[in-house]
Amino acid sequence: MRVSNLFFATQREVPADAEIPSHKLMLRAGLIRKMSSGIYAYMPMGFKVYKNVEKVIREEMDRAGAQELIMPALLPAEAYQASGRWEKFGPEMFRMSDRGGRPFCLGPTHEEPFTEAVRDTFRSYKNLPVTLYQIQHKYRDEKRPRFGVMRSREFVMKDAYSFDVDEEGLDKSYKIMYDAYRRIFDRLGLDYTVVDADSGAMGGSGSQEFMVKSPIGEDAICFCDACGYAANEEKASCKEGEADTSAELPIEKIHTPDVKTIEELIAFMNTTADKFVKTILYNIDGKIVAVMVRGDRDINETKLGNIYDATEMDLASFEDVERITGAKVGFAGPVGLKEKIEVVMDTEVAGMKNFIVGACETDYHFKNVNIGRDFTPDIVKDVKNVKSGDLCPKCGQPLGMARGVEVGHIFKLGTKYSDSLGCIYLDKEGKEHSMVMGCYGIGVSRTIAAIIEQYNDEDGIKWPAIAAPYKVIVIPTNTKDETVMGVAEKLYNAYIDAGFETLIDDRNERPGVKFKDADLLGIPLRVTVGRRAGEGIVELKFRMDGAMSEATIDEAIEAAGKIK
Ligand code: ATP
Ligand code: MG
Repeated sequence: MRVSNLFFATQREVPADAEIPSHKLMLRAGLIRKMSSGIYAYMPMGFKVYKNVEKVIREEMDRAGAQELIMPALLPAEAYQASGRWEKFGPEMFRMSDRGGRPFCLGPTHEEPFTEAVRDTFRSYKNLPVTLYQIQHKYRDEKRPRFGVMRSREFVMKDAYSFDVDEEGLDKSYKIMYDAYRRIFDRLGLDYTVVDADSGAMGGSGSQEFMVKSPIGEDAICFCDACGYAANEEKASCKEGEADTSAELPIEKIHTPDVKTIEELIAFMNTTADKFVKTILYNIDGKIVAVMVRGDRDINETKLGNIYDATEMDLASFEDVERITGAKVGFAGPVGLKEKIEVVMDTEVAGMKNFIVGACETDYHFKNVNIGRDFTPDIVKDVKNVKSGDLCPKCGQPLGMARGVEVGHIFKLGTKYSDSLGCIYLDKEGKEHSMVMGCYGIGVSRTIAAIIEQYNDEDGIKWPAIAAPYKVIVIPTNTKDETVMGVAEKLYNAYIDAGFETLIDDRNERPGVKFKDADLLGIPLRVTVGRRAGEGIVELKFRMDGAMSEATIDEAIEAAGKIK
């Protein structure tokens, strides 16, 4: 492709909402174009990368024996109603009706239509296992679309679904997908970790996420260097300390005026945060519950949501808190609530004695509160976030934390969808069973952004060859010089003949401008044809490591085979 014909424009300025390197670079390099919040078009250069990533995924899915098909994005409501997800997805689902008033959605994920397709096609154990996939647009009205194509409202996903006769079969299908995912992310050059993930309200017997470690990652990953335990913070647990066996002291009400934060309270009481239990009121699908965790802990909303199979969850409103506690916000506690609400207590609190809580009265706290004597929780469950230094649940060594971008998610679903949609098979004896399912997703758009996050510098993108929109860019320094242009054209054609997608920057621009664009676009091999063209000498620069050298024409052509 001749750069003079290329439909692209690089940009110096990027909009203020582009906060992270990949988003900025995708806009600056003209790979994508914003249509609306969380909705992007891929321009030719971006679309090439998209197709390259898609190709790797497709090759590995096919190698793993999965079969590709394509479902519509516009789907009738019925199957989602039958599975319960019409409600469950809540405001994240894009919904609409046709001219006759029939409800439809834009598919946020496709378990339902795949389950129906298999139900209506296969009836016998002899047909199973089978794994199907598609690479298709998904629609989710995300609460906070951001980071460009990392978290958008329309995005591309590869989603696969496996159907087996039993759990043992599912384990095999799952392992095949796991291996395929490793090959995909290895080939794409990503530095990733596989972590245990929340199976959530989806039920199922296990799930793992493929996380690219990155400071901008929206997920927190908890890991143990000693034994290899790794889990998403949403799911991670820790070994808890020994229970306190001190004698119970009499409860005391303490006047704590002008104390607003936990830090101020700790200073005022001359104690530490772990002697305190915070009580936070949540509104979970319209029901208010009180949640108690140790003062130095954060509540894990995924774990909390799972208890209630929550669709929508938020902090309770000020009005609700004031009515239920009879105090201003900041003084909630389990003793003296004015309305009976469910109290969920973290398992760690169960081991505490003589702790401090809000007194349900403005400017007052209780000291020496004890479970059983002063209040009784309704539910005791792990609802806390693990933090760095907590002990590994498997081996007891200290845990570390890192941030990650979730690029893939594999999931043992079990029979949730086959039960609700009647996807059954007949065994040897002619008895009916629900098929046992797995589902497997890769965010194609998010993977592209993750590659850029991992491979960039101040000058632009540094594409690994496999994803690069073009592998080579030939830059004649002077387009008016016939010798220079002769060598440049010869090289350009030689690269194309050798099967490398190549650009020739034939624009009548200063070399500096061309170099800047080539660096920004991240083309792996830059070949500059200049002063020494007459002697058959050109200059090579590998974008990945910046290595530069002079080369003969033959060496230059050979060099394209060396890009990584
Ligand atoms: P997240 O927790 O990031 O919202 P998810 O758990 O909702 O992800 P899945 O439903 O498992 O994601 O979807 C499979 C894959 O699709 C994810 O691993 C991710 O790579 C991608 N993905 C999910 N939501 C988005 C989005 N809004 N924009 C881009 N990619 C997405
Ligand atoms: Mg999501």
